[in-house]
Amino acid sequence: MAPEPQPTILDPGPHCGVDIKVRHVIIRYETESGEPRSWVGCPACDAIVDPKANAQ
Ligand SMILES: [Zn+2]
Repeated sequence: MAPEPQPTILDPGPHCGVDIKVRHVIIRYETESGEPRSWVGCPACDAIVDPKANAQ
């Protein structure tokens, strides 16, 4: 029973067909439960993206 890998700071994934990297992070924050999350700036459309929010 292997533990699932926990994303630590961010796990952006692609957006607009672009792989968003750590260098695109604008803001890092924690949820009320202490989960680290981040907002990143999409280099393709200049939108601010919360990847984990998009994943829901
Ligand atoms: Zn975009």
